[in-house]
Amino acid sequence: MADKTIQKKLAALPSVDEMLRSDEGAAWLARHPRSLVVASVREAIDDARRGILDSNAAFDSVTIADGVSMRLAKKSRPHLRPVINATGVILHTNLGRAPLSDAILDHVKEVSRGYSNLEYDIERGERGKRYSHIVGILREITGAEDAIVVNNNAAAVLLCLSALAAGREVVVSRGELIEIGGAFRVPDVMRAGGAILREAGTTNKTHLRDYEAATGPETALYLKVHPSNYRIIGFTKEAPLADLVKLGRERGVPVMYDLGSGSIIDLAKYGIGGEPTVREVVEAGVDVVTFSGDKLLGGPQGGIIVGRKALIQSIQKHPLTRALRVDKMTLAALEAVLMLYRDEEQAIRELPVLSMLTVSDETLKRRAAIIAKRLAKAVGGAADVKIAREASQAGGGSLPEHEMKTWAVSISPANMSAAALEEKLRAGETAVIVRVKEDRILLDARTIADREIQALVGAVAVALGDRAACVERLK
Ligand SMILES: *Cc1c(COP(=O)(O)O)cnc(C)c1O
Repeated sequence: MADKTIQKKLAALPSVDEMLRSDEGAAWLARHPRSLVVASVREAIDDARRGILDSNAAFDSVTIADGVSMRLAKKSRPHLRPVINATGVILHTNLGRAPLSDAILDHVKEVSRGYSNLEYDIERGERGKRYSHIVGILREITGAEDAIVVNNNAAAVLLCLSALAAGREVVVSRGELIEIGGAFRVPDVMRAGGAILREAGTTNKTHLRDYEAATGPETALYLKVHPSNYRIIGFTKEAPLADLVKLGRERGVPVMYDLGSGSIIDLAKYGIGGEPTVREVVEAGVDVVTFSGDKLLGGPQGGIIVGRKALIQSIQKHPLTRALRVDKMTLAALEAVLMLYRDEEQAIRELPVLSMLTVSDETLKRRAAIIAKRLAKAVGGAADVKIAREASQAGGGSLPEHEMKTWAVSISPANMSAAALEEKLRAGETAVIVRVKEDRILLDARTIADREIQALVGAVAVALGDRAACVERLK
């Protein structure tokens, strides 16, 4: 009996051809490439067939057509797309780290839509250098003699080790043999760069005499590594940078510092202590400094290397430089970002990362209150909405000890768990990434831009209930 109804339903399924020839088929074909329409129709029919076979499900042509429309909408949307970061983690590596402002993107667009002087010296009418565009400004804001930029900081470290220490020894404190996220481990990068690791000192204490003891005729480099998201506390000792630089001079060994985040401005003024600036490290006499473009600098992904001219020149000549080179879009964005640092207040105001780090408590509270008020109105009784004191993080391995008080919108759904709402928020038309705490959803006001509030409220309302009801309430 059951078999018979199944057979009947299967026989009634439309064919791909029939669906393509229908009015809706014509509409799909008018708007989408044929290959995409055919694939979507096939998948929707297959889905219906599986439903019938597995659970004797009912179907009608409207359901199948809806399935096709849904698939077409999903397939024609780029896979890489914006999300709303409501986690409060500013440099969220999974969410693209540093957001860029319109002014920065305008410059990228201007440079990339046509031709540019990327490797052309306009004044001389001859071939120019790709890196020339950022050398001047990097010298200006860091005090270094020369600079170069590659794909990311991991590449910068690898390149420096390859160019300056391949086949020779690099002395590193045991307290700095770190792993940061994404499989960047100092001993592994060292090996990949062909350098031989010479460990100095112990995990918690490394004295200058430990560096001295590890130095020999094969020593090519002293390497210091910023511990990023890791701290050794208590009974600890690290050789002062000035002493290490002095030792380097005496022994003829260059000192390299992988700063990781690399802040250009002194954040202590804004209550964020403990981060050395790139200029301080350069002025301390460090010969080569590497840092990321998209951490505290607040720019595009990139690995910036600044330091002594002779060393930067030999790095530039290494074949890996060509393999790790950045494109015009990165250079355009980076130059626009670096220029903002000529005026510290301007950098704080116009670089989203710095604005989010230094935003006032009052602004955060006001933003959270606006979101909460609009949400409460949009969702009615579907959730309890209030604002709450929480903490945000810098993220990206930067400033791990710096806890920033923030204001968040705290949502407790009436008819589903917080986990279920979190999933719906991810799956929505505008994906919203949130934190879940004690069965409540938290939306941290720090990483939500004002221009995103409307979309955010809409997304939460849709995730909590049916769209029609919330449109009605918002009237
Ligand atoms: C983040 C970091 C890196 C890697 O930088 P990317 O730009 O992510 O490649 C390397 N070293 C340190 C100390 C870091 O903090």
